[in-house]
Amino acid sequence: MAPLISLADIPTVSRLYQLKKLIPASSSSNIPSQTLNDIISLIRSDITKLQVDGIVNAANQSLLGGGGVDGAIHRAAGPELLDECEDLDGCDIGDAKTTAAYELPCKNVIHTVGPIYHKEKRTDPARPEILLRSCYRRSLEEAVEYNVKSIAFAAISTGVYGYPSGKAALAAADEVRKFLEAPGNKGKLERVIFCNFEQKDENAYEDVIPQIFPPTEQDLSAIE
Ligand code: ADP
Repeated sequence: MAPLISLADIPTVSRLYQLKKLIPASSSSNIPSQTLNDIISLIRSDITKLQVDGIVNAANQSLLGGGGVDGAIHRAAGPELLDECEDLDGCDIGDAKTTAAYELPCKNVIHTVGPIYHKEKRTDPARPEILLRSCYRRSLEEAVEYNVKSIAFAAISTGVYGYPSGKAALAAADEVRKFLEAPGNKGKLERVIFCNFEQKDENAYEDVIPQIFPPTEQDLSAIE
């Protein structure tokens, strides 16, 4: 079985620039922020192994378990998670609900329901992104409410729900930046981790993070 991963072993964006695992983008319209680059983190891992306060599950509207990351989370948490989920009366697309984490090494699971990309796009081309952004925003709001200071996101909707990885990473990173920059949210979260399972999603984040969270002078001068 894969070992657990502690928060200290999950690299921040700052650390990844330092290690040259993230390469600065040729252009970025965002202002570099040391505070943000010390919060945002990126790892390729099974999310059930992370010793963080909260993990975000890509659930379905029933909240009664499914395949992919949802199946992995329920297996690792044990049957009590399903018992608690049964009392939640489902969850709307774009919304999020929080439970305990039972046998998992984290404190809470935040269950969010991402859009089925092609289905929502047929209704309105703007809908997939609106709903995906809402998943990230609502999950962060839940984190604040439940005193979750370190939160790890699975790449919502990029599995069987078919959301293209690059577009999903861009919407996710931009929405997280907006949330952390909102005046009322300053200092509320210590770490926000993008946890990817597949190489395609990891590649997408390595591309998107330098655009949304460009390196600071301090990051650049620390490159080893
Ligand atoms: P969705 O229905 O929202 O697309 P999936 O579970 O199919 O949900 O996929 C969401 C993301 O979770 C995908 O990027 C998939 O690679 C990833 N994933 C699957 N298993 C795990 C896991 N154990 N840990 C972290 N991410 C996972």
